[in-house]
Amino acid sequence: MNDRYSLLVARALELGAGEAKLIETEQIVFDPRSFLKCRFGCNRWGKFWTCPPHMQLSPETFMEAMKKYKAGIVLKTSDPKQGQEVAIALEKEAMLKHGLNFAFALTLCVQCEKCAYPEPCLFPHMARPSMDAYGMDIGKTIEPLGFKVVFDPHGKLLPAWYGMILLD
Ligand code: SF4
Repeated sequence: MNDRYSLLVARALELGAGEAKLIETEQIVFDPRSFLKCRFGCNRWGKFWTCPPHMQLSPETFMEAMKKYKAGIVLKTSDPKQGQEVAIALEKEAMLKHGLNFAFALTLCVQCEKCAYPEPCLFPHMARPSMDAYGMDIGKTIEPLGFKVVFDPHGKLLPAWYGMILLD
């Protein structure tokens, strides 16, 4: 494993991730059915700067950028706000301490109870798209790493939140 990547995995745990695991970008699974799930049934659709259809970058542009990344670190936390903070902190360290200038966090934005959209974002340094916003199948991507997306009998997500840092 690239030394810088393993240092960042260890650092993710120090920053507060419950678990952190390296993934090769070829292992990341995309499925256009994710867009159906975003558009129909998600109460964040159209209400957040970081959710479709307001991300301002097309899925095609995102996929072009994806081809340039070599690996990612999947983070698991029990709290979405902590997950976002760890992801952003790790992205910053990857850039500033390890020279990975295009490190990029994918994490659900939960900074504001109600997003400022359509007014300007209040915390743009924290705002990133979630893993599924650009069509990633989170369940299939994380399962080979030993993680699992689990719902309770009422259809609510059990408290395990996933984010990812893409590494160049
Ligand atoms: S930081 Fe706040 S205003 Fe900005 S995208 Fe996230 S929820 Fe919306």
